[in-house]
Amino acid sequence: MSRMYNFTQLIENANSIGISGHIRPDGDCTGSCLGLFRYLQENFGQKQIDLYLEPFSEEFNFLADSQKVKHEVPEKKEYDLYISLDCGSPDRLGMAEALFYQAKSTVNIDHHISNTCFGDFNLVEAFKSSTCEVLFGLMEPEKISKETAEALYLGIVHDTGVFKHSCTGEDTMRIAGKLISLGARPEYIIDHTFYEKTYLQNQILGRCLLESFLVLEGKVILSCVDRKTMEFYGAKSLDFDGVIDQLRVTKGVEVAVFAYETDTQEYKVSMRSNGEVNVSKIAVFFGGGGHVKAAGCTLKGSRHDVMSNIIAHIDNQLKQILPG
Ligand code: 5GP
Ligand code: MN
Repeated sequence: MSRMYNFTQLIENANSIGISGHIRPDGDCTGSCLGLFRYLQENFGQKQIDLYLEPFSEEFNFLADSQKVKHEVPEKKEYDLYISLDCGSPDRLGMAEALFYQAKSTVNIDHHISNTCFGDFNLVEAFKSSTCEVLFGLMEPEKISKETAEALYLGIVHDTGVFKHSCTGEDTMRIAGKLISLGARPEYIIDHTFYEKTYLQNQILGRCLLESFLVLEGKVILSCVDRKTMEFYGAKSLDFDGVIDQLRVTKGVEVAVFAYETDTQEYKVSMRSNGEVNVSKIAVFFGGGGHVKAAGCTLKGSRHDVMSNIIAHIDNQLKQILPG
């Protein structure tokens, strides 16, 4: 899809538009969905526009239209246009996958290097920090309201780890600056949605750090939480936000791995790389995806098997990068 003109045309030609992002929505996913939802409603009135998304962190509820998000999909509904945001593959659309394929035309906007280009129109810019940054490139700045600006700013903040990950570039900062001048509140968004933790989140973070262990001569740190522990704390997947980031900043570590049990003997694995290891490659091998330095996948097996499988792949890459 070539840029704004075509995107605007696609929107104008559709009477009904569906929007969705990936399962277990993070900041970029929620921000891009709510940002686009708002932008389309404000600038392309008279259309039916629906946003379907799984429940997200309640810290994002201050974003405009968060209460309008639909958490259940109708069985039969054919949209003229369906837009997938921040989603690397159609299965990650979860409940909205069927709606996506039932639509007359589909658009896939993303920044994951592992994106499978599953839309009729695909805009996948893996060099960009976030889907929100990609979206900004499709919008006319003078048509971005304070509400849209806050949603996009939140997404950029989260996917860049507050402007520090390697994906943060000159454009990222310029766009963030523009969003601030359009009304986004950096202090509130950064503190309230990124750094602030509930007591339970801090407890679970402490537990994960306490039980972490180093392998491969301290180059890899791992931590894993089983269902029993999750039940003990009453922890849900959203409560693990930030655990992997804390593991990653351990001195000397090349790769951090965090896993939690989603079902009996099924683990959701998050990986972060500080150096040359391409964690997207490992995630894709196990049926997941992501970015070169941040990726995830789901593995079946005992916690021991899951960890060993991941460690073996990291070891392989480390040996190629650091021979001998
Ligand atoms: P996280 O570790 O924060 O869950 O995810 C890191 C990155 O990898 C995110 O960009 C996320 O969208 C992607 N990712 C995580 N898990 C999966 C997965 O199971 N499949 C795919 N395709 N991408 C994933
Ligand atoms: Mn993203």
